[in-house]
Amino acid sequence: MTDYFEIHERDSAARVGELRLADSVTTPALVDDVDTETPGDCRHVLDDAGSRWPTEQDAPDGDDSLLTVLPHRGLPAGTPDEVAEAFAVDYPDVSFPSAAVVSSDTATDHGSDAYVLAGAPGYVGHASAFVDAVSTVREAIPADTALYLPGVATPRNVATLVYAGVDLVDPDRAVVRGTEGRYLTTDEAYFLEDLDELPCACPACQQPRDEFDREDCVEHNVNALAAELRRVRRRIRDGRLRDYIEGQARQDNWLTATFRRLDQQYSYLEERTPLIRRADLSAASDDSLRRVEIQRFAERVTDRYVPRFDDRPLVLVPCSARKPYSDSQSHKQYHDAIKWRAHVVSMTSPIGVVPQELELTYPAQHYDSVVTGNWTATEIEFVSRVLERYLEGTDYPEIIAHIPGEGYRDICERVADSLGREFTYTVTDHPTTADSLGNLAAELEGWDRYPKREREHNTIRAVADYQFGAGAGDELFDDLSTQGRYPQLRADDADGEQLAALAQQYGVLSLTTAGARRWVESDVHTKTVEIEPFVPHGSVLAPGITDASDDIRVGDDVVIRGDAAFGVGRAQMSGPEMQSSTRGIAVQMRHVDEQ
Ligand SMILES: [Zn+2]
Repeated sequence: MTDYFEIHERDSAARVGELRLADSVTTPALVDDVDTETPGDCRHVLDDAGSRWPTEQDAPDGDDSLLTVLPHRGLPAGTPDEVAEAFAVDYPDVSFPSAAVVSSDTATDHGSDAYVLAGAPGYVGHASAFVDAVSTVREAIPADTALYLPGVATPRNVATLVYAGVDLVDPDRAVVRGTEGRYLTTDEAYFLEDLDELPCACPACQQPRDEFDREDCVEHNVNALAAELRRVRRRIRDGRLRDYIEGQARQDNWLTATFRRLDQQYSYLEERTPLIRRADLSAASDDSLRRVEIQRFAERVTDRYVPRFDDRPLVLVPCSARKPYSDSQSHKQYHDAIKWRAHVVSMTSPIGVVPQELELTYPAQHYDSVVTGNWTATEIEFVSRVLERYLEGTDYPEIIAHIPGEGYRDICERVADSLGREFTYTVTDHPTTADSLGNLAAELEGWDRYPKREREHNTIRAVADYQFGAGAGDELFDDLSTQGRYPQLRADDADGEQLAALAQQYGVLSLTTAGARRWVESDVHTKTVEIEPFVPHGSVLAPGITDASDDIRVGDDVVIRGDAAFGVGRAQMSGPEMQSSTRGIAVQMRHVDEQ
């Protein structure tokens, strides 16, 4: 049971939380021992009772203004499991804010508010050992507890530490490096004597260079670390830490290796990555292709989405900088030539392929990429793979590639070859010239346009497949009638009862209770949150939850069920987090029926 720690914001494995001491601490935070006098911006809230072991074996007194590190035994790295177990400490159940010391082998829920990773400095420079240790401990302890990594943080590495799931760090390493004459910045560890001028404007650096000594260097290092943490907290709140990491981690090879290694721990990151976000994602390198948001979209388009227009030609078009694509000048020109006679799918890096029905769905209208006109080999490989998987199992009578040369053409030729299908190319020089558009229109000669109703129905069903799972579009919306004007669509049943609305900002469906009941009655797996017998209004807090589906992600529509209520809302935590948390808002309710 966590009494003194709560998560407020989540951005992949990184979180902004609150250590609820008498004077609360916003995490990720720089904390230090209450007895030390580290210069610079740091919270002195740690009381390490461990140092008193074993002379004082009783539980420490504790204090709600401090985070007390419970008595523990420091065992050297490599201690055999059976020895470690024999010496394992039974952590007392205490009523004050406490932290238990664990290793990646022994981590388990001790009922503490925070956990200290033993031997943490040993992981510096070792990407896979670090990622394994942090993810293993994170998975073993409840979500609403803080993970403290002592003796590791520097201004350069702290963003990556937090990205991996660390909540608390201390200034130890920055202090030691300062006393050794190393001047730390977010990109380097300079020898102080090599610096002609100080590349910083913190208070410690506001003095003549020749008067700046190692003591000042210590103070600067701690300031630089604290400043970087402020930046990281801002990034998490904005949902944009990953964009920063892709640049920042480049400053040190082991950090680059660390975040790539984390990308390989896909399920660890996927569970913690929201389904939708307000912020745009910036795709600036091949590393962006491995982001959860990108992989998840490609996976759902190829596994869940069903092309309902494949009884007519497919037109592949290039993406546009303006989103949604249909608002762009170029796509309006394609549309004037196509006139609803073909299914339009946009090809794009980093997303892969975007069927017209999913152009609003996160992140299809929420990304910004670096446009050079050239594709990297990795981009070509990725988009080819997604396009090929998309086309497998479709029955389009004709595939028209209305795309420019270079990367697009390479991808189409590669996929045409691999699938043994013929593509018709309609662009002579550029996709928007009169010649090219004329070719495109001529190619669609003889096909009639599909009605607006079919477009709208297929959009609702496609989003349902994407969001709720394969088959959901047909199961939940078999007798469908749409109201409103795209993109503000409402989905009703044949009798006019509203089932859902398309949320224009994220391109997902917001269900009504009638829609939620259909989900429960369907054969599609329902993401469900079971609650105690009460009627939730506004939100459901974690302590009121008795069970939750494992596959719930932040931003998912979820069904809320209890003896007193049936409702629907949007998840603010993942399912596993709901199961293990004792604090925090788990679901924002949209509609509830008392029963
Ligand atoms: Zn400074």
